[in-house]
Amino acid sequence: MPLPEPSSVLPAQIAQNLARVRSRVDDAARAAGRAPSDVRLLVATKTQPADAVRAVVEAGADLIGENRVQELVAKAPDLADLVAAGRVEVHMIGHLQRNKVNQVLATATGVESVDSLALAEALAARCARDGRVLDVLVQVNVSGEESKSGVRPDDAPALATAVVALEGLRLRGFMTIGANAPDETVVRAGFARLREVRDAVAGSGAPGTGDARELSMGMSGDLELAVAEGATIVRVGTAVFGPRPTPR
Ligand SMILES: *Cc1c(COP(=O)(O)O)cnc(C)c1O
Repeated sequence: MPLPEPSSVLPAQIAQNLARVRSRVDDAARAAGRAPSDVRLLVATKTQPADAVRAVVEAGADLIGENRVQELVAKAPDLADLVAAGRVEVHMIGHLQRNKVNQVLATATGVESVDSLALAEALAARCARDGRVLDVLVQVNVSGEESKSGVRPDDAPALATAVVALEGLRLRGFMTIGANAPDETVVRAGFARLREVRDAVAGSGAPGTGDARELSMGMSGDLELAVAEGATIVRVGTAVFGPRPTPR
């Protein structure tokens, strides 16, 4: 995969788009009777060159997400100063293979795409060896669409319970990608399903599950529905940077 070209979107445009997205999130939170501060905005930076990522951080984004290990690694040197200064956190939000764990841990401050016990164990082993604790989310496939990663909702509590038992990881909650469906009620039901999974796990009283409160759900096209169903992190790319050149 070629590295992204320098950005054609101007920093001022990125800042304006970011502010618009933040207003959408804030409005959706208020409409749902929630505090806007309860919903964090993650900017999905896949296919965006490092200068565009830097621009969005300069505009105030404090959490970004990458899908592909190769892109995460390629942009890491350009963003190292911002990460070191604590100005931005970097989450892995795409499917991750076990043999890439070391590369991811060199840069990422959290992993939202834990979808198997084997992956969780690989992350945990490395973190325990390094004496660090990594925040993770369990990815759940609420739509059942084959193209999407994540465990089935019925299997999520078991994986979550296994993850909390691993030294080196801290389970912070759950992540999903909403259904690719024209019917809003279908999309919304999927987000509600993730909330039910979260409530079941965080309310189970099992040791270590009490921290698993986060719901990372909602993207440019469906963030309002996700916030209405309790999202605490929404992940937005297109609405900040414009349409991506190649479909993902
Ligand atoms: C690309 C991506 C997003 C953002 O999607 P947009 O539709 O561009 O807002 C969110 N989450 C994941 C996992 C993604 O891959």
